[in-house]
Amino acid sequence: MNTIPHWINGAPATPAADTRTAPVYNPATGAEQARVALAGHADINAAVTAATAAFDSWSQSSISQRTTVLFAFRQLLIEHEEELGRIISAEHGKTVDDARGEIARGREVVEYACGLGDVLKGGFSGQVSRGIDVHDFREPLGVVAGITPFNFPAMVPLWMHPIAIATGNTFILKPSERDPSAANFVAGLYQRAGLPDGVFNVVHGDKTAVDALLTHSGISSVSFVGSTPIAKYVHETATANGKRVQALGGAKNHAVVLPDADLEFAGSHITAGAYGSAGERCMALSVAVAVGDAADRLLPVLQRKAEEVRVGPGDTPGTDMGPLITAAARERVESAVAAAPGQGATVVVDGRGLKVDGYENGFFTGPSLLDHVTTAMDAYQDELFGPVLAVVRVETLDEAIALINANPYGNGTAVFTSSGEAARRFQRGVKVGMIGVNVPVPVPMSYYSFGGWKDSLIGDSPIHGPEGVRFYTRPKVVTTRWPQPAQHEAAGFTFPTSN
Ligand code: NAD
Repeated sequence: MNTIPHWINGAPATPAADTRTAPVYNPATGAEQARVALAGHADINAAVTAATAAFDSWSQSSISQRTTVLFAFRQLLIEHEEELGRIISAEHGKTVDDARGEIARGREVVEYACGLGDVLKGGFSGQVSRGIDVHDFREPLGVVAGITPFNFPAMVPLWMHPIAIATGNTFILKPSERDPSAANFVAGLYQRAGLPDGVFNVVHGDKTAVDALLTHSGISSVSFVGSTPIAKYVHETATANGKRVQALGGAKNHAVVLPDADLEFAGSHITAGAYGSAGERCMALSVAVAVGDAADRLLPVLQRKAEEVRVGPGDTPGTDMGPLITAAARERVESAVAAAPGQGATVVVDGRGLKVDGYENGFFTGPSLLDHVTTAMDAYQDELFGPVLAVVRVETLDEAIALINANPYGNGTAVFTSSGEAARRFQRGVKVGMIGVNVPVPVPMSYYSFGGWKDSLIGDSPIHGPEGVRFYTRPKVVTTRWPQPAQHEAAGFTFPTSN
């Protein structure tokens, strides 16, 4: 069986015979389709050595040289979108169109990075003191690492590496071991775009590889996206090892529906936000908070829409929703649905036990819709990361805002209403990083930062946009005097003040 290798110094790194490996499944068939090499310390050292060697010249390359590579890379991402989409779909299970959507969204970060000449401009202050000027500029950190989740195998790494590379760093990506092939494909595209060997490297692996990266003295920063417990661990460990860290965690995203909303519109968008990509999105809507009499009118719409979702393999045209990533993920989701009635919820649509013809061993579960969910129930408290929508009923908008703010996560949220006043009150009241107004999934825009609040972002650094440039660089402030030979002033021994 094919073993997916690391990509180090511009080439696949053939794993040693005794390398540990993990299975990579096709979630639609349930079959193991490849093994992936799991990096040990020697592999991480090899990647750091290659990235360190490449940093010397890449960090000195001109903005124009770097932009030329990024423009070519962007073009290759366009030309190979379908191919990369199929690679993602085969290992993740999402539909090919959905995979193409994540590639397109990630490509926008490359486009942002192509404009780096502008973004990297420093400041200048003339005559801060007599004959003295000050300016600043930003320099790359060195070798930086990215550790990413399974649910967006192209887009989440693309939030990181274009900006890191554009600002002159060299990059080591540790993608999810569950869908590793997209990372190697992207490495090949970078090489074809003219990126020098060693600037972008991929190491596959599990906790062993992550720990080696977090503690390696040759790595300057760690960007992490994944579940909250691992985000906390990564933040603590990497910070203790002197690294700059950005760590995005999990989510439980609420959509508030007010009685004045267009409920057909809201129901349709909430359904897509809840069940798209089988609910395996950090911006998936997993809770609908129905205010007042919206609930009784919204439920039939949600039920009808959930029952219309076409579940099947991701590469079959017409499929809305593919399988979950693993059999264990399906088990977690179906157990939560099974437990819901015992805790007082009503199962309106039950997706458990769904079988897809010809794909009986695939990791499929259908959309599930739960009503009368309360905040005490497991289906509300756990990040199920699957196609389960829980409806919670409240009486007022203020109650809905309080409910959202009491949740430990604060990644994304949405409000459906026709009232500008209510929408404004909502966006100013919620303690959440990304907000949609009649938009169910407020998507990442490359020129804004992306990141939640509370347990959805550990530390203080959101990802990409200007925040990404700041994260991957550090400032130098230069104070300059060019005295005329005849005007030398005597040097004073008191602390210099402006004059
Ligand atoms: P995960 O936390 O299990 O894995 C993320 C990465 O950490 C992977 O590369 C994995 O190999 C590594 N990892 C896993 N266990 C580890 C351990 N014990 N020690 C060290 N490293 C470990 O997450 P996942 O299941 O791949 O992805 C889903 C999660 O990611 C969800 O919680 C989702 O909300 C979150 N997510 C968040 C965002 C965001 O923007 N906030 C975006 C995408 C996904």
